[in-house]
Amino acid sequence: MYNIVFLDLDDTIFDFGYAEEHALRTAFAHIGIEPTEAQMHLFSEINDAHWKRLERGELTRREVQIGRFAAFFETIGIGGDAEQANRDFMNAVGESFRFLDGAEQLLKDLRARGKRMYVVSNASRSVQMKRLEKAGILNTFDGIFLSEDLGVQKPERLFFEKCFARVSDMKLDQSIILGDSLTSDILGGIRAGIATCWYNPKQKKGREDIVPSFEIGHLSEFLNLI
Ligand SMILES: [Mg+2]
Repeated sequence: MYNIVFLDLDDTIFDFGYAEEHALRTAFAHIGIEPTEAQMHLFSEINDAHWKRLERGELTRREVQIGRFAAFFETIGIGGDAEQANRDFMNAVGESFRFLDGAEQLLKDLRARGKRMYVVSNASRSVQMKRLEKAGILNTFDGIFLSEDLGVQKPERLFFEKCFARVSDMKLDQSIILGDSLTSDILGGIRAGIATCWYNPKQKKGREDIVPSFEIGHLSEFLNLI
């Protein structure tokens, strides 16, 4: 039985693709560009690749934020201001949120069952806090652990050790992490010695070297597992 639940936010609770698209349109409107579907897809890939490099400790948060726009502008051949685009993008991401299917219900059910819930996110503090507040779930959690605050990111073991130190009556064998990313959430959970649940709604192919304790295709399945 798992009583302590660590939850990723982006693409686990919030629909990041929705926020990203909205934010990209807003950031681009400021420089007079209407992004095409292909460009938005391209940005999404570049953005994701940059965050993966943060996970591996290859880039700082700042390098991710600016670098993704610099790389994007270079790839599509426009001379945009990466700093400004990033500022506009981050402001807009913070303004927009949409729950993934079943996410609100899951949070309610976890709470009703007396589970303790902690956010574990690599995303930027300003963005996440704004979205949690707008979504009305800021006070739903027993703790909000952001890598920007802790100075180290998922999947580093140290990130989780710092989280665990802030959880009262922490018990490894009663803890589980739920997240959509094998390389940050699941790998991190494995390294930290807790159970892991991979939320994989698009049925992506797994990895032989990162094997979750559980895998679910819909958030409603999580409650039965724990
Ligand atoms: Mg995620």
